[in-house]
Amino acid sequence: MPRPQGTSTKLERPPRPLWNGHSYAHAIVQTVRQPLLVLDRRLRVKSTNRAFCETFRASPEETVGRLVYELGNGQWDIPKLRQFLEEILPHGGGFEDFEVEHDFPTVGRKTMLLNARRLRQDGARAELLLLAVEDITERKQAEEALRESEERFRTLYESSLDGIAAADLDGYIMECNQAYAEMLGYTREELRGIRFQDLTPSKWHALNADFVRLVMDQGYPNVFEKEYVKRDGAVFPISLRSWRINDKAGKPVGIWSIVRDITERKRAEEDLRELKDALEGRVAELDAFAYSVSHDLKEPLRAIEAFGSFVLEDYGDRLDEQGREYLARLAAASVRMQRLIDDLLALSRASRHSRPSRVDIGPILREVVEWMRPQIEGRSATVEVEERLPDVAADSTQVEQIFRNLIGNGLKFNQSERPHVRVGFKGKEGRMGVLYVQDNGIGIEPQYHERIFGMFQRLHRREEYDGTGAGLAIVKRVVEYLGGRIWVESEAGAGSTFFVALPLWTKDAVSQKREAA
Ligand code: ADP
Repeated sequence: MPRPQGTSTKLERPPRPLWNGHSYAHAIVQTVRQPLLVLDRRLRVKSTNRAFCETFRASPEETVGRLVYELGNGQWDIPKLRQFLEEILPHGGGFEDFEVEHDFPTVGRKTMLLNARRLRQDGARAELLLLAVEDITERKQAEEALRESEERFRTLYESSLDGIAAADLDGYIMECNQAYAEMLGYTREELRGIRFQDLTPSKWHALNADFVRLVMDQGYPNVFEKEYVKRDGAVFPISLRSWRINDKAGKPVGIWSIVRDITERKRAEEDLRELKDALEGRVAELDAFAYSVSHDLKEPLRAIEAFGSFVLEDYGDRLDEQGREYLARLAAASVRMQRLIDDLLALSRASRHSRPSRVDIGPILREVVEWMRPQIEGRSATVEVEERLPDVAADSTQVEQIFRNLIGNGLKFNQSERPHVRVGFKGKEGRMGVLYVQDNGIGIEPQYHERIFGMFQRLHRREEYDGTGAGLAIVKRVVEYLGGRIWVESEAGAGSTFFVALPLWTKDAVSQKREAA
């Protein structure tokens, strides 16, 4: 630049522009974080910025001087772009937000927003084109994902069999699905001006207000059962799950509720309750009946026994052998009748007088074995009780009754030279502990595995094995009363294993009990 001429003795430097035009533009282009291309009017690349090179993995050497369509081995030879640049651009000053979706060999499928602006340099004939490329692939994908999720939500919302509704802070319904409107007999439009409270019978208002307060305080879903009133005035029970709606800033703006008509469930529950009450009543009646009949039968039986023995004592010498035998049979029959009646009494008592508590089975079993010692030794038998036995939630007398019966049967229905009964713990099944009583006795054919638990059901004549056939019926009733289950695995001649599942006494139950104490 020529030095300015002047009269001043002081050499004055003219103000120098901070930027010359080109480097100023160049600096902007380089700094912008959006990929940019500067093209000449023949669409040759004049320059690119760093963002462009990084995004499309190109170097300035590979790009500058080339036709835009040649970039990256023709990657930019996109028909739609070519059409725009060649046909549309020459007629206008530029274009905005032109969306192009294209598969780039180097960087994959991309959606780009192109903006072009013609740059005229004053005085210069050369005309430049600034092409800004915005990679909106991720935004597009996010939008698409959002659209899909919105569509999924809509489908679920609209096709839900449960009613779904949103209300504002005053309880006015902002929106609801078809199921909600149908449940209440309104149209969706009508519901928009109605408040939740208007749909709730007044007796529920206080509880409803408490529930709403809870939902607003806690924010997460809460469940509540109340009633709704339909448009025609009919009242029906519902269960609802509600949660707070917050705006972007986290400020509560309303409540979402999912509402289910539970008329059918309530009716079924009611029927079941009635049935249960009726059944319990019938069972109690039957028990009372069995109890009183057995009681009443005992008296005439005692009379038969007494008069039988009087006849034998006072007239025995006047009877012949046959007469005495008849009398002896009469006496035996009445003893047996006595036992049957006692068993009936025991059955009617099996589901009474017990409150489950923690029962340690081990000591009870050892005591049972001790009591049965004479019977065991008389048969040269052994009874083995495993060490590891669980605590169950039961009644100790009933547990004793169960195992006395099962061990007794294992010894009785046994023809081995050395009868052996083993009692142990098979393991847990859910909240149940399964115990077993195994013998090396005569076994039971599979077709009788159910029948033997029936009252007075026996598989043998009394002459072969003594008994009334009441033992297992009583055991089954006791086990079921305690919430458990009994079954047998056996084959004829191969011994039997009786399994008894009883509710386990859990640690929770123990600590709860301690706390209660
Ligand atoms: P009881 O012992 O008075 O006969 P139970 O109700 O205890 O009556 O048993 C019913 C029937 O089941 C028995 O008569 C017997 O046929 C069969 N039974 C029970 N326990 C066993 C066992 N451990 N081995 C073989 N059969 C058995």
